[in-house]
Amino acid sequence: MTDSQQETTVLTSQDLAPAQPSSQLLQRYQDSLMGVFGTPQQVLVRGSGARVWDADGREYLDMLGGIAVNALGHAHPLITSVLTSQQATLGHISNLFTSPTQIACAEKLLQLAQAPAGSAVFFANSGSEANEAALKAVLRHRQSSGKGRILALEGSFHGRTLGALSLTHKAAYREPFGELIGGVDFLAPNDISALEAAFADDDVAGVILEPIQGEAGVKPIDDAYLLRVRELTRATGALMVLDEVQTGVGRTGDWFRFQAVADGAAQPDLMTLAKGLGSGFPVGAMVGFGPQASTLLSAGQHGTTFGGNPLATAAALATLHAIETSGLLQNVQQIGAQIATGLQAIPQVTEVRQYGLHIGVDLADIAAPDLVTTARERHGLIINATGEKTLRLAPPLNLTVEEAELFLSRLTSAIADLTASQATSTASKDHS
Ligand SMILES: *Cc1c(COP(=O)(O)O)cnc(C)c1O
Repeated sequence: MTDSQQETTVLTSQDLAPAQPSSQLLQRYQDSLMGVFGTPQQVLVRGSGARVWDADGREYLDMLGGIAVNALGHAHPLITSVLTSQQATLGHISNLFTSPTQIACAEKLLQLAQAPAGSAVFFANSGSEANEAALKAVLRHRQSSGKGRILALEGSFHGRTLGALSLTHKAAYREPFGELIGGVDFLAPNDISALEAAFADDDVAGVILEPIQGEAGVKPIDDAYLLRVRELTRATGALMVLDEVQTGVGRTGDWFRFQAVADGAAQPDLMTLAKGLGSGFPVGAMVGFGPQASTLLSAGQHGTTFGGNPLATAAALATLHAIETSGLLQNVQQIGAQIATGLQAIPQVTEVRQYGLHIGVDLADIAAPDLVTTARERHGLIINATGEKTLRLAPPLNLTVEEAELFLSRLTSAIADLTASQATSTASKDHS
């Protein structure tokens, strides 16, 4: 072995990208990254469980979890050891080959989803890509059935790729790009008569929806609505696609949200997953329920280079294993309830929508984006606003009682701080 090869084996990413104060790193960011995300809130350098540290050494309690992704928190030892050993054994092989991890991961997902015989999984790298696969399956069905319409919901978010974007309601995300996939109609969520009317002329190829709308501020879809979608799609041969990218993999206290609805009676034809599935490693999946839904895309009609590689499926297997063997579904229910109770006692909180650790909080008298900034800059707390009035929380599924208490106390201090500074600025305005 040459000297340079030996050196390479002891390099760390810190050697390749040395630490600097946040201000300098953010300047380099401005000069080298595209502005699609605006300015990042902080440069983060290290994490452990529900804590992260920034480049200036400040500690935060992370109640956003990389947007519902870090199911086991930062630097979980199981994920670290499984990924490290997998990378040292076999990292990537392409889908011209398969691996034991890929097969075991597909089997585990089917088992946890209580999928019937003939069900099957397609692995992708992200939520958008899982939804692209589902949309392609719906388009196959549209082509063969001659039924032209695809239904989605107002308030939906299905991703930023062109197909997923066609199904995403927010005009500001779609309209800059002109024509997307045609034939998509957006219905008002939970309006059963509008749903029935949309099916009246038997021209629906598929319906795609989130069981709880995450980006819209954790807005639940009624059980009755989900069941009616299931009945109507079944009766007309249309496909029901549930986007469980945010709600799936234990986030709401069930493995998948549809399992909490009427004992699984709203089991879809296709379900998409990503976010928490790899506990931080990028991995997405589409689950087809039953042989018909699982064979809509035949050999050659879809594919991916990275999707389902040994590293990604090892991360997913380890995540599912940890949730199952550490009783995390139960923890999610308990800690979620603890947080909801605490939030309800805060005067500025007008509504809490809590489904396990998938939590939306409506506020009065203070702007949610201002609270996010104050909490982060002055109270060591990372939270997220989905709108002017609404916070979203998506902490790790293994959050502890003590961490939940710490969250409530830091949030309360941040609210008091913001309220006091608003009072001061109003008072100084009155003087001027
Ligand atoms: C985040 C999200 C997506 C998009 O996932 P990406 O990994 O960002 O492509 C799609 N659907 C839902 C419900 C999401 O929350």
